[in-house]
Amino acid sequence: MRTLVLSDIHANLVALEAVLKDAAGHWDQIWFLGDLVGYGPNPNECIDRLRDLEPAVTLSGNHDWAVLDKLSTEEFNNDARWAVDWTRRQLTEENHAYLTGLPPLHIAPPFTMAHASPRHPVWEYILDAQTAWENFESFATPICLVGHSHIPLLFLLNGPLDVPEPYLVTDGDTIEMDRGRMILNPGSVGQPRDGDPRASYALLDHEAHIWQLHRVQYDIAETQWQMAQHKMPSRLIERLEYGL
Ligand code: ZN
Repeated sequence: MRTLVLSDIHANLVALEAVLKDAAGHWDQIWFLGDLVGYGPNPNECIDRLRDLEPAVTLSGNHDWAVLDKLSTEEFNNDARWAVDWTRRQLTEENHAYLTGLPPLHIAPPFTMAHASPRHPVWEYILDAQTAWENFESFATPICLVGHSHIPLLFLLNGPLDVPEPYLVTDGDTIEMDRGRMILNPGSVGQPRDGDPRASYALLDHEAHIWQLHRVQYDIAETQWQMAQHKMPSRLIERLEYGL
């Protein structure tokens, strides 16, 4: 069994299509870790596309919740809040209902999946050793998969006294998943933030216990053009080309 692990598509259809083309033939099922919408210009198209692929797991993220009014946008910055309000006006009734039915956490041993963290499934960023270490207490399975930070990271815990420092996983890196307990992030399809603007995804080989990270170029200018047509905030448009 091979799983295509996606997270944080954020309504960027051009990036999603590039990932699906790049990964074609290499997966049997899809797991999606949340934030289908917010930031990008194609919320309905991305929901329709992912639904058609019938993912085995689909989580909701904080932006999905904000669009559904399940989460206040008080702590969002102005641009993110603008995108939430805009997305809310675009969503079809059917896609609104679809997002409403998605959970932020799913457990399928040996995996726990959460949009943000197992401790706070729609809130917390796992970016440092301390936060990772505390979160290892919050799930019972060997492996936890998260999204949310838009940064492809590995935190490895070999023993209770280990310090799980963040390890930045880059294009082509292969992680052996039986080396200890792990928190893994596949990075973001639609809005990478590690300085590499290419779309990010992971392939998980369940028999070989291998996690492999992939980055793929997509037509960033096309997504930016679409965002400009909708008069989206310029900072959201520009950041795509820097991957920040
Ligand atoms: Zn996100």
